[in-house]
Amino acid sequence: MKLMLMDIMDYTTSDGPGFRTSVYCSGCNHACKNCQNPQTWNILNGKPTEVKEIFEHIAANDLANVTFSGGDPFYQPKAFSELARMIKFNTDKDIWCYTGFTIEEIFKDENLMELFRWVDVLVDGRFEEDKKDPDLLFRGSSNQRLIDVKKTLKTGKIVLYDYEPFVELPEEEEVFI
Ligand code: SF4
Repeated sequence: MKLMLMDIMDYTTSDGPGFRTSVYCSGCNHACKNCQNPQTWNILNGKPTEVKEIFEHIAANDLANVTFSGGDPFYQPKAFSELARMIKFNTDKDIWCYTGFTIEEIFKDENLMELFRWVDVLVDGRFEEDKKDPDLLFRGSSNQRLIDVKKTLKTGKIVLYDYEPFVELPEEEEVFI
């Protein structure tokens, strides 16, 4: 199976926590105002690439987790589901996925649900210029949510991903000389 690919970047740090291999696809119909990647909208701008080839690139990096982005991976749910299945069966990497669909829209479409079930954290919703906030972690506008997919599927309620990037260090012990 082939996936319409724009780029793969190694060791990204802005598409989720830690080092990640980011897979950027072509294809997006959401047309958000001031989208940073309008060149990805046309799916034909991507290069047809074997899913296995993308998986091998990802698996060759022991350190990095994985992010699917675009474009919108949910316009290619079958190819990304296949890639996610390979990742989950053969590695212990976590998968983040960006989409312009809201989780409520995904719930209504079984084709989209197929990919959703493989994801660990979903960043959902279109980019909304009037809600843009540069202080937000891993997303552009405040309507977008970081969703813990496994807990959401388990509880049947939308559970936000609990991420605390700033770990408080213990106070230094007093040293007497
Ligand atoms: S969903 Fe993402 S790629 Fe698609 S138009 Fe919106 S910001 Fe651009």
